[in-house]
Amino acid sequence: MLENDLKFLEETFKQYYFDHFDLIHVPDRSKEREYGYKKFNSGMIRHMSLKTDKDLHLMLMTNVPSDVFCSNGYYSFPNLPMAEKDWKEADLIFDIDAKDLKLSCRKDHICMKCVSCAEISLVQDACPKCKSNKLDLVSLPCQNCISGVKKEVLNLMKILTSDLQIDDKNIRISFSGNEGFHVYVTNSSYNQLGSNERRDLIDYIKFQSAIPERFGFPKNNPSRTSFPDLGDSGWSGRVAKELFGSKSKRSKTITKVISDGQVAYQQKLEEMKNSIGVKIDSNVTSDIHRIFRLEGSLNSKSGLAKLVCQDIEKFNPYIEACLIEDKPVEILANFPIKFSLKNTKFGPYMNEKTSVPKYAAAYMVCKGIASISGT
Ligand SMILES: [Zn+2]
Ligand SMILES: [Zn+2]
Repeated sequence: MLENDLKFLEETFKQYYFDHFDLIHVPDRSKEREYGYKKFNSGMIRHMSLKTDKDLHLMLMTNVPSDVFCSNGYYSFPNLPMAEKDWKEADLIFDIDAKDLKLSCRKDHICMKCVSCAEISLVQDACPKCKSNKLDLVSLPCQNCISGVKKEVLNLMKILTSDLQIDDKNIRISFSGNEGFHVYVTNSSYNQLGSNERRDLIDYIKFQSAIPERFGFPKNNPSRTSFPDLGDSGWSGRVAKELFGSKSKRSKTITKVISDGQVAYQQKLEEMKNSIGVKIDSNVTSDIHRIFRLEGSLNSKSGLAKLVCQDIEKFNPYIEACLIEDKPVEILANFPIKFSLKNTKFGPYMNEKTSVPKYAAAYMVCKGIASISGT
């Protein structure tokens, strides 16, 4: 990152932390958690311990991190190396990200940035300027991406509260600060699960490895009455809805499913992984020693805040999580696609100098599509 951009982001992030101590707290049982942080242009520092909000605020002011993290795990000695921490339990956390949803809108808001010469262009095989094929993807997610992720979060919530019987009050949802949402389950009996058991839970939530026998179709003598019903709870009901659509189509569909055979049914169930399985990131949920971005902190991929959502359906991250001030800043911007923040439209920019509010400047510098001018 260029010197001026680094200085701008450090000053901006420091100002944000100073102005928003009210949003940044250590989570419950802070003494048992591991903390970590990154600075702009440097690697991760982990295995730290912070006991109170005051410790946290002091750390933010002293180090001006680009990103701050806190463990889902609880340990006897959180600041010792991993092998000596003495793991007790870990919150169950799910990550759903727009980039994993394969939405059709994505192609409309991604660009390539050349690693060699920093040229920005629409998606193509090689840099139009220097012909390098070392290209990074830059995505500015849109409202459709956010709606797609919210839909997955709501499907996950149904499974957590009805199939797994987790109390609503032990679940919270946070916008990640970039393209996704995190769902936290705390204080539940699931905290004791190790990685292997969490993987079984992931298979269940993603609807992976479903077998025909479990959904009413044994190898020999399938019976019409054993197929799932639309009113069934859990996956049976969800499979029935997906398979039959409506009650009136049930009988005709069963006739067809039986005549197509068990292998075809297995195939159908396999495909349902994509349509009704919840698209959580398996690596995140199975990791019991992971550190997660701290709620209230800024995400250096965007300059937006990671925030707890009180009402996920109404939450608009491009307004509510955009908390940097709006003082005008001169930038040199280069991005051939429009985007919107705080109900204001920006771009497209054709390698031009322009003045934008500080929150938009921070967003673009974090995304690597603008630089602070006057260099
Ligand atoms: Zn290039
Ligand atoms: Zn989109």
